[in-house]
Amino acid sequence: MKKVIAYVRISTGKQKFNTSIENQIQVIKEYCAARGYQLVIIYSEEGSAKNVKDRPEFIKMYNHFLADPEIEYVIVYKLDRAFRKLLDSLYFWDKIKENNKYFISILDNINTIDPHSKDTYIFSALHAERERENTLLRTTGGMEVKAAQGFFNGGIVFGYESVRGSLRIIPQEAAIVNFIYKKYVYDNWGYKKIASELNIQCIKTKKGKDWTTTAIKTILESKIYIGYVKWRSTYTKGKHKAIISQDLWDKAQAIKSTKSIQPRKIHPGTYPLSGLLKCPQCGSVMVQGNSSQKYKYYQCNKNKSSGRSACSSNLIKKDYAEEYVLEAVLSHINTLNLSPLLQQITISNINSNLVSLKEEAKILKKALEKVEKKLIDLYKLFNAEDEDERISTETFTLLVKEAEKEKKRDQQRLNELNERITLQKDLNLSQNINFVVDDFKSFYQLISDEDKKLLFHNLIKEIHITMGSTTKERKIKEIIYQFEPENMNTLLSA
Ligand SMILES: [Zn+2]
Repeated sequence: MKKVIAYVRISTGKQKFNTSIENQIQVIKEYCAARGYQLVIIYSEEGSAKNVKDRPEFIKMYNHFLADPEIEYVIVYKLDRAFRKLLDSLYFWDKIKENNKYFISILDNINTIDPHSKDTYIFSALHAERERENTLLRTTGGMEVKAAQGFFNGGIVFGYESVRGSLRIIPQEAAIVNFIYKKYVYDNWGYKKIASELNIQCIKTKKGKDWTTTAIKTILESKIYIGYVKWRSTYTKGKHKAIISQDLWDKAQAIKSTKSIQPRKIHPGTYPLSGLLKCPQCGSVMVQGNSSQKYKYYQCNKNKSSGRSACSSNLIKKDYAEEYVLEAVLSHINTLNLSPLLQQITISNINSNLVSLKEEAKILKKALEKVEKKLIDLYKLFNAEDEDERISTETFTLLVKEAEKEKKRDQQRLNELNERITLQKDLNLSQNINFVVDDFKSFYQLISDEDKKLLFHNLIKEIHITMGSTTKERKIKEIIYQFEPENMNTLLSA
């Protein structure tokens, strides 16, 4: 039987989950038992000294290990329990080799009896050195055990509240998680559109902030919503209730993977005034200029495409032009008193969406009634007194199976529709409308670049700028509007 000794360590101080020593010992004992090693002694140490020379138990272990010819192995839970310095670990490597002994780090999967283990050993040692003091590492053991038992390991999750380590659903937030998944899966909305919609609805994240594409992406990827808990990259079945069905979650992942292989769309709308600004020299349109990350301009298109001989660049600063035009548009809108019109358009948009959902639901209900009638007819036929009319058990089973399948499919779709109808009714209508009307500027900042471009192009016919002899001097002279109220419709439904 191989004789081994073990070394465990926990650094004193800040961590809350101080179960790691016990956990290390447990893992090491199980490891030895499984391999029939005789665990002679466990050296246990508390303290966060970086150098092994400042750790008395480590020194005892080291001396014992080298002095006792019967001990073949020293075992640690993880390399960083033993060493925090690369030099220490390399020194130790040489010593064990000199003495024909071996070292095992369970979590790093290192056993120095393997001739190829040196790379892993050095890599892990390097990693241990780089790990900062008081990182999550030292709490690893405790948290892993917790995660393995299906408890939640901290952090905040939209849709749930954490009550003594377990997650409890918050219905209002769960409805929003559902909304996000359904818009993504059934309405083909992107992260940005979903985020904008939630922001327009004045719905905040858990931290009280506006939604971002990253926040939406995180929600759409998290397995927590189908009842799992995560620790590092491993998921285990949790003890909490799921918010999203496995089916819906799978669909979202499928859509995500198809989207990720599509080429990235280049946003043509990043320069929303392209085509509206007119070159003061030649009168052709101005477009995205040769800009750097820091300095951005609109440039005469003739100059851009045909060079200096056709026209000068006549650069105008992007930021200045867009801010100026936005302010002008805002005051223009105010003078038009659009509020009643905007309200009307917004309401009619939401209603028309509701109407079509309701219509589909109506059709499905009829289809369901039909299937149910079919099932009753089948039972009648199966039990018919007249033998000529009666159908065989085989036929009956087959037809019932088919009908049941149809019924299930329609019922599922109907449930989905009903959920969506409820959700849409719940959206705070008046808040939504007032937001758009009262704060058009915020609305503008929330919409996508493409929509910004659409907004300007719907409102403005052309923009003239002054000739100016330098870029700095070039200013906006006049904005010619082409206001057609019905165009607002497309904007608000975007
Ligand atoms: Zn020009």
